[in-house]
Amino acid sequence: MCGIVGYLGDREVVPLLIDSLRRLEYRGYDSAGVVVRSNGELKTIKAEGKLDRLAAKLEGCGLVGSYGLGHTRWATHGVPGERNAHPLSDGRGRLALIHNGIIENFLELKTRLRADGWEFASDTDTEVIANLVSSYLDGNLFEAVRKAVADLEGMYAFAVISGESDEAEIVAVRNGPPLVLGLGEGENFLASDPSALLAHTRDVVFLENGDIARLSPKKVAVWSQGETRVERPVVRLNWDPIQAEKGGFKHFMLKEIHDQPQAIQDTFAGRVDFESGSVGFDTLELSSTEIQAVRRIHLLACGTSWHAALVGKFLIEELAGIPVEVDYGSEYRYRRPLVAEGDLAVGISQSGETADTVSAMETARDRGARLLSICNVVGSQTTRMSDGVIYTHAGPEIGVASTKAFTSQLIALYLLALYLRQQVGREMKAELLDDLARLPAAVGEVLTRLDHYDELARRYAEAQDFLYLGRGINYPIALEGALKLKEISYIHAEGYPAGEMKHGPIALIDRHLPVVAIATGRRVFEKMRGNMQEVRARDGIVIALTDRDPEELTSVADEVLQVPRVSELLQPVVNVVPLQLFAYFTAVRRGTDVDQPRNLAKSVTVE
Ligand code: GLU
Repeated sequence: MCGIVGYLGDREVVPLLIDSLRRLEYRGYDSAGVVVRSNGELKTIKAEGKLDRLAAKLEGCGLVGSYGLGHTRWATHGVPGERNAHPLSDGRGRLALIHNGIIENFLELKTRLRADGWEFASDTDTEVIANLVSSYLDGNLFEAVRKAVADLEGMYAFAVISGESDEAEIVAVRNGPPLVLGLGEGENFLASDPSALLAHTRDVVFLENGDIARLSPKKVAVWSQGETRVERPVVRLNWDPIQAEKGGFKHFMLKEIHDQPQAIQDTFAGRVDFESGSVGFDTLELSSTEIQAVRRIHLLACGTSWHAALVGKFLIEELAGIPVEVDYGSEYRYRRPLVAEGDLAVGISQSGETADTVSAMETARDRGARLLSICNVVGSQTTRMSDGVIYTHAGPEIGVASTKAFTSQLIALYLLALYLRQQVGREMKAELLDDLARLPAAVGEVLTRLDHYDELARRYAEAQDFLYLGRGINYPIALEGALKLKEISYIHAEGYPAGEMKHGPIALIDRHLPVVAIATGRRVFEKMRGNMQEVRARDGIVIALTDRDPEELTSVADEVLQVPRVSELLQPVVNVVPLQLFAYFTAVRRGTDVDQPRNLAKSVTVE
């Protein structure tokens, strides 16, 4: 989830680009770069790390130009570092390009372009677009982009300038990630989101998917699907810049909850071939023979990632029939785990820097396990120490309480389970993949009912304690729901396997205790209904989450929240979203610091 900006006009282009990029740093800070057109040439300066490093590098280098592009990167393909930083040029130095998103068929295109003599200097999918556009470039940049787009698969936004044309011109494409044009007097702008533009203009045009725009200092023109000239409405923004960084949402957490349909899709995109019914990863680095030799899997994680691991155990055991153990990083490292030949240890961490997970992975490696990492940050520690990596493509997560990183981890684990299934020769049923394709829409549907969760929060925000119950694959979701509430609202909450309630927590139940019961799917629905009855019989308050007709539960529940039904193995991804929203609205009502709750840190790099 990179940030992209562009400018054409009379102003000093470099400071303007840097200032706009500052507003987009929340979208990634692995590296940053600018390109300007200066005296008929393209001049590019890039630096690894945060924008300040680029700003320092630019100081005193006298880079001036009439128009240009800027980028702040959150790596998906290729480690963070200058060689993979954007803007990227084509192999013949004719153009420079910035990109946000993923090109799913980049390997196929790279092979084709290589065969035609194009050279590559980075590991990015972005460079493939640059060479592809250049391969079609014959004096008309817009035409070249139009042709290139027809070859591209994936979700992407990009902008390109050419060193060859005489006029100041930027061509930009949106196909998934957001892209907005800013309109000025004799100047025009573009950016990933309006926060980068608000200091300069309030009149913006939001591009739609499939749009290709051509910008000059005096004019912007948009073509839908690159074919039909369209007039997109000009919107006058009255957002304040801080609000704009959060995409108009009050908190990053709420924004990130809303990012989930996209993050889910980005995590399975390019890895699932729906036609052939197969799953593949380009960064797994473990051969089929090595994978087939896996006898046991150790999932190692902390906090929310540990909950993902518990779901992962269900998925892998059920889909691939390989035994799985789940451990807290902080526990595993201090016991003497039995690791045998053919064991695979999978470290799960959003940041890839969680100290306990890193140490647990070291322990597993020292005892002979191969290492795999599921991680959201390219080039982080767990990815560097592992034999293979499955990246989640959630984009940077700023809110301390994890939301989209969690659901993306669930998708990565589902893909891993399917991949293992394929490798051990079990049948790949088409519905296992089709269910995945339907998931972003199902999560999107939950997000249309915000008022529902806000109203629930209004009724229960004063409670002192909560109990969350679930069974089977939804037991970890009960844990995660309770954790979200604790983390951001500071209400004491416990997650429990529903069948265990009678062995202890039932003593807590009285008319002040709300119990959230997850009752979806077929396998344990009746059992969950029984547990709700037990709570009701002791005067407890029951809040049920179900994929069934609410009527089926009104006799045992005070509140029934309905969620869309998906397959049982993917239902946890849908079920967690209302629990995130409930925690969020409760925290807002209690006036806590939602994005930076007390005593917590985003990435726990200490023991
Ligand atoms: N795929 C591009 C890269 O790795 C862009 C990443 C993004 O937008 O997140 O550089």
